[in-house]
Amino acid sequence: MKISEIRKLLKNLISGDVYWDKEILEFYSVDASLYQIFPKIIVIPKSEKDVITTIKIANKNKISVTARGAGTGLVGNSLNEGIIIDLRNFDSINIQKNFVEIGAGVQKGSLDKALKKKHKFSAPNPSIGPYCAMGGIIGNNASGSKTIKYGSTLENLIEITFIDGKGKKIILPQNQTFGKKILRIAKKIDVSKFPKVSKNSCGYRLDSINSVQDAHKILAGSEGTLGIILSAKMKIRSLPKKRLLFVVEYQSVYDAASDCLKISKSKPSGLEFVDRDTLVNFDFEFKKNTKCLLFVEYDTNIDTKSKSFAKLVSGKISKKITKEKEIEKWWKYRDLALSFSLKSIKFQDRVPHIIEDATVPLEKLGELFSLIEKTNKKFHTKTIMYGHAGNGNIHVRIISKRKKIFLIDEISKYYFEHVFKLGGSITGEHGDGIARSWFIPKQYGPKNFKAFIELKKMLDPSNILNPNKITSHKKHLKKLEPL
Ligand SMILES: Cc1cc2nc3c(=O)[nH]c(=O)nc-3n(C[C@H](O)[C@H](O)[C@H](O)COP(=O)(O)OP(=O)(O)OC[C@H]3O[C@@H](n4cnc5c(N)ncnc54)[C@H](O)[C@@H]3O)c2cc1C
Repeated sequence: MKISEIRKLLKNLISGDVYWDKEILEFYSVDASLYQIFPKIIVIPKSEKDVITTIKIANKNKISVTARGAGTGLVGNSLNEGIIIDLRNFDSINIQKNFVEIGAGVQKGSLDKALKKKHKFSAPNPSIGPYCAMGGIIGNNASGSKTIKYGSTLENLIEITFIDGKGKKIILPQNQTFGKKILRIAKKIDVSKFPKVSKNSCGYRLDSINSVQDAHKILAGSEGTLGIILSAKMKIRSLPKKRLLFVVEYQSVYDAASDCLKISKSKPSGLEFVDRDTLVNFDFEFKKNTKCLLFVEYDTNIDTKSKSFAKLVSGKISKKITKEKEIEKWWKYRDLALSFSLKSIKFQDRVPHIIEDATVPLEKLGELFSLIEKTNKKFHTKTIMYGHAGNGNIHVRIISKRKKIFLIDEISKYYFEHVFKLGGSITGEHGDGIARSWFIPKQYGPKNFKAFIELKKMLDPSNILNPNKITSHKKHLKKLEPL
């Protein structure tokens, strides 16, 4: 069938909206990455039946279907050529005592508001704040400042309802037949090749499937390649009665890194890092030679932590905050680190950010900083760094002349080769997308990659769900050309 016929067929059969206007295709051709791919059709389904119909038509006509949340992904995960399916109408929120049932299109901000009224919160809190959707949070296995204590999305999932690549509705872990099949594939992996990090959004997380009861976790970080998520049940927790936030200044990132190890043993609810370039945006006078800050939050045993913290750290404690409003203000500074860092990079010095999300075991954090320093020396680049230090997850923005764009592949190969040696993952939370899928075979080795392909074939035999991500890649659809 021609594209024009598929468009008309979808329009006739779907109760939701179907678009192919130039402006709308343009809107869906970009996300928060530097890539651009023009899709052919946008479907905004109203019902489960609409999603199934879309997948069945796509299957017959060999056209891809890519799920879209809010499009805030940083590596082009939600961009593709065929149909983009936007789940915004799946926006129900049903709060129970210890879990919430949410539609994939629920905005994180709406969920937070609804939970706050009941004195509850949901742990995965990407720094993008209220603007992302729950389908995207699951699709990327997103995490944030609370992950050090409460885990990433994967650890907070209880159940997932999704439509697979054949148009079949599956609920995991209830559906034992599928659960058993996933477990069988999980048993084939070489676990030693999986990074021993506290969060990981690379490839398929078959390492997290230890029983049929874990089967739903496979959707976390699957980037829309295994199924279109309709809804999920996720853990929720009671809001802490009190919080305590320390802001600590360091003259060396290596001192900060070695303190992180000690601090992590004191069970903080947040342990985050920003470097010197971010500091200039804070409404606060730091010492002249300050190279970086750690943000350390506790949400239990506040009195004890308040007294004992100073003994844990070698840096200068410049803030000790207990007032909620003030705590929120300082977390905003941390959450704005990406936009602060972009402010300090001239447009012509911004290059695609392939190495921006590596994660290493916490005891290797100092070595990761050293690797960043070596990378800068070798390639004559500069970097801005910030991130989730407590998880060994540092975001790196490279500053280099755009005309040297060809260097990015070389930098990525060098950097990731060393990240592998440190036992790390190429991505702790932002996923593989267009930028990094080509590194997955190197991350996991041929045996595990074969298991990934088997899993993909089981749930999406015609490879229509977000192709060219995770198990395959189309190299470098770069929006940016050298200036
Ligand atoms: C300023 C900024 C800060 C950020 N900070 C963080 C951070 O701290 N932590 C973090 O983890 N991430 C962060 N991110 C990355 C990103 O915002 C998050 O990962 C976010 O959760 C993505 O949600 P989204 O709705 O925008 O997803 P999208 O970008 O729309 O999609 C992401 C992936 O999920 C898939 N997907 C979406 N919906 C579904 C569905 N219904 N079914 C199946 N697959 C689906 C898509 O196909 C895609 O592969 C940040 C991004 C920005 C721009």
